[in-house]
Amino acid sequence: MTIDLRSDTVTKPTKGMLEAMFSAPVGDDVFNEDPTINALEEKTAKLFGMEAGLFCPSGTMTNQIAIKIHTQPGDELLCDATAHIYNFEGGGIAFNSGVQAKLIHGERGRISAKQVEENINPSFDWLTRTSLVSIENTGNRAGGSFYSLKQMQELSDTCKKHKLKYHLDGARIFNAIVESDYAPAELGKIFDSISVCLSKGLGAPVGSLLLGDKEMIRNARRIRKVFGGGMRQAGFLAAAGIYALDNHVNRLKEDHARAKRLSETMSKLGFVENVLPVDTNIIIFNLNDKLIPEQFVQKLAKENIKATGFGRQAVRLVTHLDFDDNMLEKVETVLKKIQ
Ligand SMILES: *Cc1c(COP(=O)(O)O)cnc(C)c1O
Repeated sequence: MTIDLRSDTVTKPTKGMLEAMFSAPVGDDVFNEDPTINALEEKTAKLFGMEAGLFCPSGTMTNQIAIKIHTQPGDELLCDATAHIYNFEGGGIAFNSGVQAKLIHGERGRISAKQVEENINPSFDWLTRTSLVSIENTGNRAGGSFYSLKQMQELSDTCKKHKLKYHLDGARIFNAIVESDYAPAELGKIFDSISVCLSKGLGAPVGSLLLGDKEMIRNARRIRKVFGGGMRQAGFLAAAGIYALDNHVNRLKEDHARAKRLSETMSKLGFVENVLPVDTNIIIFNLNDKLIPEQFVQKLAKENIKATGFGRQAVRLVTHLDFDDNMLEKVETVLKKIQ
């Protein structure tokens, strides 16, 4: 048995998911003729109170399409310094859209309306035009922290006041929602666009959706084609997404409970300097000077447990659909033996 805690993207489709995939009706989606993709796009858009949706191969693509649509070359976007769009999308902001990012140092990845207000450039010819605010919920590099509805609304008010577009990188938005008390449809009222991943905690093998109004999604279809993301009979993949939305949302709480328990165990270990707060399914901790991440990762690897270093003395563990209570116990046993 291998236990993989490197990411929540490592999950394999369940039997039920595979059955849904095999029996999906499909067609050529570039001609808009894949009934399963159309159903997934409609279902997700409705769920989030948006007019339309677009199925894409990855969350990088949905984010990058949104940035492309909301900006002009030479513009500036505002995001937290830990943002995936800035750190983990290969420089796509500049590469795809000719846009630069002004980084805000939020509180565990969360930027405030006040910080946005302070970072908007006045409209002088020699200053970059600020046109977009992008937030991440839950924050990945920020360790799984999430925004309250109120915080997201305040940011929306600021964006409206200054005529800025407002994008949500919701790769793990369901992890935030199951820990909060608002309906997903509330988010459609707040954001100009939302990106949702099916291939993270929801356990689908591939796919993300970009949600927005009809006009935006019409534009997005064109850009998806230009980016090379127009797929054909991809309804087999969309079927996995529909299955994930129907079956794998509420169970995310189990992942959070396991992450919490693991973090409590970790915080008592001799080689752990500190564990960052665990709000959802991501655990980031720092090793003290007795151990470097490579050594720690190797020790776990010998016991068939996969983990990754996350910069300097930090290690990140992520819980998911393919990590159960037996595995949790095994990991705890192994951790307690490490010197
Ligand atoms: C994983 C992730 C994405 C998208 O990643 P892909 O691997 O391209 O699907 C976007 N934003 C965040 C915060 C993520 O964690």
